[in-house]
This record gives sequence, C-alpha cells and structure tokens, in this order.
Amino acid sequence: MAHQGEPAGGQGTQGHNRIRRIATEEAWSIPEIPKAQLELLNGPCPPDDASLRMGAMFAGLPEVQKQLCDIGPGRIARMDELGIDRQLLLLTAPGVQVLDARTGTELAALSNDRLAEACRKYPDRFSGLTAFAPQDVKGAVKEIERGMTKLGLNGAVLNSHTQGHYLDEPAFEPILEALEHFDAALYIHPTSPPSNWVYPYAYRGFIGALAGFSHEVWMHTMGLIFSGAFDKYPKLRLVIGHAGEAMPLLLYRFDWMQSNADGRPGLRGGQPPVKLKHKVSHYFHNNIWVTTSGVAWEPAIKFCMDVLGPERVIYAMDYPYQVSADEVATYDNLDIPFEHKKMLMQTNAEHVFRLPSFG
Ligand code: CA
Repeated sequence: MAHQGEPAGGQGTQGHNRIRRIATEEAWSIPEIPKAQLELLNGPCPPDDASLRMGAMFAGLPEVQKQLCDIGPGRIARMDELGIDRQLLLLTAPGVQVLDARTGTELAALSNDRLAEACRKYPDRFSGLTAFAPQDVKGAVKEIERGMTKLGLNGAVLNSHTQGHYLDEPAFEPILEALEHFDAALYIHPTSPPSNWVYPYAYRGFIGALAGFSHEVWMHTMGLIFSGAFDKYPKLRLVIGHAGEAMPLLLYRFDWMQSNADGRPGLRGGQPPVKLKHKVSHYFHNNIWVTTSGVAWEPAIKFCMDVLGPERVIYAMDYPYQVSADEVATYDNLDIPFEHKKMLMQTNAEHVFRLPSFG
C-alpha cells in the first residue's frame, strides 16, 4: 500500500515529478442536519421523500455519522493511512435540500461556516464546496456568493434534485447565473430519485448506488443540457462523479438521438421549445468534468480519458462510503502516461476547483 508522502507511481519525489493525491468527492456533515432530518421525518406531516428517508437511515448509523462529522485530526489520520494529500469536502446527501426553505438556508450557512473554519485550520489537507438550499432561491444565491467571496470555498455542491425539482426549471435560473458569475464549479452529487419515480427502484432495492443514484444525476445533467443552460451560461461548469454516471459511454448515441428532445415543442410544461447550439457531446467536452468516485477501475478511467480528454477526468474516493486500503495503489499502477496521471490525481482538481497548487 502506498502512503501519503510517497511518490505516486514510483516517479520520483521532487517538484513536478511528484504527484499529490486530491480526492474530490469526500463526504462530511454537521450533527444539526441529520437531527433536523429526523425531526421532519418524525413530525406530524412528513413529506413522501425517499431522500429524506435515506438521510434518516444514515442518521441512525453512529459510526458513519462520527466519520462524516470529523473534519479534524481523526479524518486526517485516515487520509494519511489511505495516502490522500487533500480532500475536497462535500456536504453529504441529502443535506439541507430535504428541509423547509428557511431551515435549509440556515443549516447550509452553518455548515459552510464550519467547513471554512476547518479549511483555514488545515489549509494543506482540506478544501470544500459551498452547500446551498435551492428551495430558497434568494438564500441560495446569497450563500453561493458568501461561499465564493467571503469564506474562500472552492465551488458549490448540490445533492441533486430538491424535493423533486431540478435546476433546469426556470425558477432556479438565478442560481445558475450566480454559479457562473462567481466562477463556482457545481458538483452534482446523487441522491435517491424523487417520490414520483422512486418506487420501481425501491421495490427492487435499487434506490442507491446500483441504479437510482446514477439515473437521478443523469436526469439532472441531461436536463441542464437540453434546457439550453450551457448555451445561455457558457462558462457554467458542472462536475459529476462515478465515471460521469456512465454517461460518457453513450455520447455517440446521445448525439444520434438528440432530436428526440432538442427543439421539440410541447415539452417542459409548455415552455417555448429550446434548440441547442451544439451536439450533446459538445457540452461534455466544454462544460462538464467527471470524477472517478467509487470507480477505481482502469478500463473505465481510461475510457473516460479517451473520449473526454485527460483534462476532464478527476480522481475521487467517496470517503467514508466506499473506502479500500489499496485504492491509491490501483491509481499508482494505472497504465497511463505520467503527465495524465498527474492531471487525474492532482492538477485537474486544482484547476477546476481553483485550489491552491501543490506544484
Ligand atoms: Ca459520494
């Protein structure tokens, strides 16, 4: 097993010959959030929301909560064991998005304050993304601004749909505008599918990582593309995990079948039809980056690098949900050029999330 401080891939130890490992989809939380989720679920009229139920399920796992809420020496010791130089911290799903608007924004702000404090305390080990509550559009815009201009955070995290709503709906446009304006890359992390399509998944045990998570982020990503969001906000940057939720494998077919939805009248509740300026694959080559969270698997990583370009694939582990002691060794042993490995493990993350450079 490789250790922190050792060179990745046996490529020397000095300057540009050293690779630092930055893991970019690493989950954390504050105790107040699962507490609020449990209060809502156990209250007089809990919403029918599989994401809220998932939050409550994780709230009942003390060991997981302990790991999530530790953004101090305990987590750093685990990073040292696992060989991780820096973690990019994302408020874990479903976070504040299952709560009412006011509580959502309050707890997003509280979590962002604590995250910024940990990043200031351990500047070489932690960076983090701004959490926000889209169910409070104005509050979300303010929080993105605060995260990017006052707290020194490195982008924004969305745990996908918010009570069945997606960012491609017109009400959320100020959020897209703010993300572009404040140069915040948006990491869309999965949650359970919304109540109106979760039941076939729940019936079969597929709500989470086997299917529901991926399909749900697929909906969000394709929804944003076909809404014309990236034509309107060409500098908007999106990051999706789990080898791009398998979407890179299908780019050819997406382009071929684009007219099924592109420019068609009568969609999106009767909004004017949107005709895209480009093929679907264009947005994957210009606005979207993918991380390798939970997919420490050479063929998938190489495929993503091949079709998207080595500059669009970023390492992630998915701590504490999917952790294996030999994961970094798998990456050290990838049969790819040194410069691509350095981009994958380090410099792409530094670029996309505007992190301080390890050099
Ligand atoms: Ca994750």
